[in-house]
Amino acid sequence: MRLSVVVPCFNEEASVERLHETVSLALAELPDVDVEVVYVDDGSQDGTLAALRRLAAADPAVCYTSLSRNFGKEAAMLAGLQRATGDAVVIMDADLQHPPRMLPEMVALYRQGFDQVIARRDRRGDRFVRMVASRSFYRMINWWIDVRLLDGAGDFRLLSRLAVDAILAMPEYNRFSKGLFSWIGFRTVVVAHHNETRQTGRSRWSFSKLFNYAFDGLLSFNNRPLRLAIYGGMFLTLIALAYMTWVVADAVEKGIDVPGYTTIIVSVIGLGGIQMTILGVIGEYIGRIYYETKRRPHYLVQETEHLVAETSDASR
Ligand code: UDP
Ligand code: MG
Repeated sequence: MRLSVVVPCFNEEASVERLHETVSLALAELPDVDVEVVYVDDGSQDGTLAALRRLAAADPAVCYTSLSRNFGKEAAMLAGLQRATGDAVVIMDADLQHPPRMLPEMVALYRQGFDQVIARRDRRGDRFVRMVASRSFYRMINWWIDVRLLDGAGDFRLLSRLAVDAILAMPEYNRFSKGLFSWIGFRTVVVAHHNETRQTGRSRWSFSKLFNYAFDGLLSFNNRPLRLAIYGGMFLTLIALAYMTWVVADAVEKGIDVPGYTTIIVSVIGLGGIQMTILGVIGEYIGRIYYETKRRPHYLVQETEHLVAETSDASR
């Protein structure tokens, strides 16, 4: 069989070489597997690309794609998946948080017939805030969306060709891959690994990025927020109708008097707030439609190991 290992790298000059050593070492346990390692440089600003060039020159099993700017991990993963030629593809992070020693076990499970082997990490060693945030994220997501997401199951997984092709057949611009992976289904198995702390550099996930990510997850998989807006609107209309009936009856019975200022202000502000929220929800979906209809590519390629001549400074 042929195995592709896809590694998105963004400013990982400090870890790519070590990662490559560790991966090669782990794969040496599988002499009957034909290996290809696809690195995707996601517009790094440090020496990542230079390191990848060196790796590719030294090891024929290495290929790399360098994107024209930072397109984000989702786009980098997509670029890697599109390039991978293996019967099975493993996606892993460059920062050694996804231990390559899991590879033989994952390949063994693939050989037993599984199409998705998820390496799920436990949260030991995580910062408390981060852990609570992740937990609530998964609780919230699973409550909202139609696909099930597993806490700690990130992008470290092995996909069979069947699963990879299914992922590649989804052309959407807003890619929430945790959801996509779960959406495609197929025979799936979960293996556990311990949480490794990042060896070098720092995580690119700030709290606000995580928050936006959670938001993406909520909006990417169904239109339940819109549904909720409709129900909320109908509920408020009913209350308003009931109240109106009562006010009119009261006025007919007792005559009109001026008070009611509080009620008016409260309802104007309250309804205004609700309307703005609902508009915001609708706007989010329209924004998504806007991006989808533009049909822009997910990423642009600046350089690959075959495409060096045209782009490298040496040829100018
Ligand atoms: N990454 C990427 N593009 C980005 C951000 C991250 O390709 O814009 C890569 C990064 O190099 C690493 C992986 O995605 O290999 C995970 O990133 P990170 O370690 O920052 O995330 P965390 O492990 O904290 O979830
Ligand atoms: Mg990491």
